[in-house]
This record gives sequence, C-alpha cells and structure tokens, in this order.
Amino acid sequence: MSRSPVWHPFTQHGLEEPAPLVERAEGAILYTRDGRRVIDAISSWWVTTHGHCHPRIVAAIAEQAQKLDQLIFAGWTHEPGERLAAELVAMMPAGLPYVFYSDSGSTAVEVALKMALGFWANHAQVGRGEPRHRILVLEHSYHGDTIGAMSVGARGVFNRAYAPLLFDVGTIPFPKAGAEQATLDALVVACAAEQPAAFIVEPLVLGAGGMLVYSPDVLRQMRSICAAHGVLFIADEVMTGWGRTGTLLACEQAGVVPDILCLAKGLTGGSMPLAVTLASEAIYDAHYSQDRSKTFYHSSSYTANPIACAAALANLAIWREEPVLARIAALAERQEAARAMLTDVPGIVNTRVCGTILALDYELGAADAGYLSTLGPRLTAFFRERDLLLRPLGNTAYVMPPYCIATDDLARVSAALADATYL
Ligand SMILES: *Cc1c(COP(=O)(O)O)cnc(C)c1O
Repeated sequence: MSRSPVWHPFTQHGLEEPAPLVERAEGAILYTRDGRRVIDAISSWWVTTHGHCHPRIVAAIAEQAQKLDQLIFAGWTHEPGERLAAELVAMMPAGLPYVFYSDSGSTAVEVALKMALGFWANHAQVGRGEPRHRILVLEHSYHGDTIGAMSVGARGVFNRAYAPLLFDVGTIPFPKAGAEQATLDALVVACAAEQPAAFIVEPLVLGAGGMLVYSPDVLRQMRSICAAHGVLFIADEVMTGWGRTGTLLACEQAGVVPDILCLAKGLTGGSMPLAVTLASEAIYDAHYSQDRSKTFYHSSSYTANPIACAAALANLAIWREEPVLARIAALAERQEAARAMLTDVPGIVNTRVCGTILALDYELGAADAGYLSTLGPRLTAFFRERDLLLRPLGNTAYVMPPYCIATDDLARVSAALADATYL
C-alpha cells in the first residue's frame, strides 16, 4: 500500500494502522468514510465542549469569514478581538484584566512564562530587585510540546531527544493523597531558597501526566505559599478550563485567582485554534512604559485571528444562554455512577472522577515493561474496533466527552472500559 504523505502527530507510522478517515461530525459522534458511527469519548483531544459543529459556532464562523478573515494585530485591532477580550475579563475571576492572544495551549504557556520573566526583568531595570529566571513546576506536569513548554513539563520518552536543550526547572513533588504536606513543604523551601520567578501548575487535574487528581485545598495552599513569597502563580487551565472539572475554571473550586491564566482547548468550543493568556494588573504594569525596551515582544502571524475570535464569542454566548453548567453537572453525575460500577471490576484500580472526567488504571500486576509499553496501543485498537474514540495513556484510560453525549453512548463507553480488562 502506498504511504500517505501526512506525518501525523504522536504517531509511529512504522507500527500503527492507517488512520480512519472522518467525514463529518455532530454532537459527540464522528462519521467515517467507511460508514461507521464513532463515539468521540475524548472530545477530539479535550477540545470539543458543547459537541461537534454546534450550529451557533458554525454560524458565527461563516458570518465572520465573509467580513474580515485576518488582520495584523500589532498596531491594528478588530471588533471580535476587542469584544472577546472584554467578555473574557468580565467572565473570568476578578484580578485578570488583560488578555493576550495566541493560537495554541503551548503558545499560551510560552507567553505566560515570558510575561513572568519580563515582569522580573522590567522590575530589575528600575532597581526593584534582581531579575529572576527560575521556574518551579509540579511533578508529572504537561504544558505543551514547544521547547519552553516541554522544559516546564515532565521529562520522559516523549522529549528525551531534546533533553539537553530543555532549561532546568525546580520540581515540586506531586501532592499524592496522604502526602500533600510534603508537597507544600517542598514548595515553601523552593520559594525561599531558589528565588523563583514563577510556579506553573495544572489546577486539580494533571492531564497528559495520567489524569492525576489532587484537592482544591492543596491548590489553595500552593497559591497562598507563592503569594507569601512573592512568586508569580501561573495556572495552566488549557485542559481544565471551560467546565471540564465541574466549574468554569478549576481554580474556582479553590477560590484561587492566579497572576497569569492560560486558556485554549475549549475557548472556541473546540472549533478553531485560539488561545489566551490573561494577566494581572501588576504583570501588565511591569511592561507598560514610555521605554520601548520594556515592550512585551511576542507575536505570531495569526494572533487574534478574527474568525477564531468570532467562534470564541459564540462559545461565550452559549455559556451565557444555554444551561451549560447544568449539563456538566448531569454528566458529572453519570460519570460518578460509571466510576462506582467500574470500581468493582477486577483488574481496574484507582478509579477517579473530577467533574466531567472519569479515569482509571488497568492493574499491571507482575507485567513487564514490554507489556506496559504495548498496552496503550492495544487498548486504543480494542476501543477503535468498538467504534469508540478513546486514547489511553499507558495503563490509564480516561473518558472526557463533549457535554452533550447521550446517556446510551456514555454507557457503551463504560462497558467497553470494563471489557478491556480481558486484554
Ligand atoms: C493540551 C495542553 C497544552 C498544550 O495545548 P496545545 O493546544 O496542544 O498546544 C498545555 N497545557 C495543558 C494542561 C494541556 O492539557
């Protein structure tokens, strides 16, 4: 068979089956060219919140595409960009009055890191302390795949080839249940000893690191330790934002307002690539000057693309006008019921739910490393055969569906998770 010229992401073309071709999608369902109806149980890699092709978002995209398709955003502006920033500031927790646009979660994180470093550099320039460069991170974190975002994420097989180029960070142990105090103590020590510029965290759930959950109380305490030491607190809500954990932001459950907030994935309801980094007054002020050298030097060609902004405005309107939180609460309840069922299945351990996210681990027992390394792909293939889009992380399977998923479809997903213990 001839090879496709497409080089797919996170895909070993030397091993994997040809990718199924999807022709259209609606709600939580994908329709393939060969006539299959596939349940999108991971929201097309965590982005699709209200379901595929939500009519309101589709209409907003079509309308904007006929008016203004793209515009340089340095020195120029447009209505969707202005309106979206104003609406985001109004919708997000008070204390984050400035919005910087980019186009992916990874870039939103790069921007956040550059803002934090710029804050310290610009302060140092006017004699307010030394510049700070060190970043603290949480063990097992994932913040994206660009070099800076990889640097603040966990090291492993995914980035080994680039490891010598990744910058050094301070790693705070993950707050495992029962060992939360060790995390908090380590954070206090690092804040005092290392004079870090910032601490970056995924609030409540570490996604790509294995859907690891920790409590709002730990999040709240980590935030207050940083505040007490004058260390900037960056919340990467790229995955957890837009209702995933049961509330609009995961930070809300801890009453936490970060200094810098990253949003992407669900920002356009999962329809267009767009990201934002929200900043506090102090971060913005540190860059505001009559001195050009204090400018925040970051841009990409499609910064604040008007069509993507229009899609995001439609997402915000859906949040305001449809019962999104009620839908999320109902889904969270069904996920909790599925968790209770799966807990009793032999071979399944560590079942957990955080809002709309259900995760579990397949017990490995005496399995060797070879078994573990092939388990993920074998699980993926098993689910694909059942017309389910699931993509386990090693021996961890998780379900993160669009909020509109039908009860029957969700039940089919849970049943498959139970059956997969026979693999
Ligand atoms: C997915 C993800 C990113 C990266 O976002 P991309 O849009 O894929 O670049 C960053 N942080 C977290 C927590 C994520 O889950």
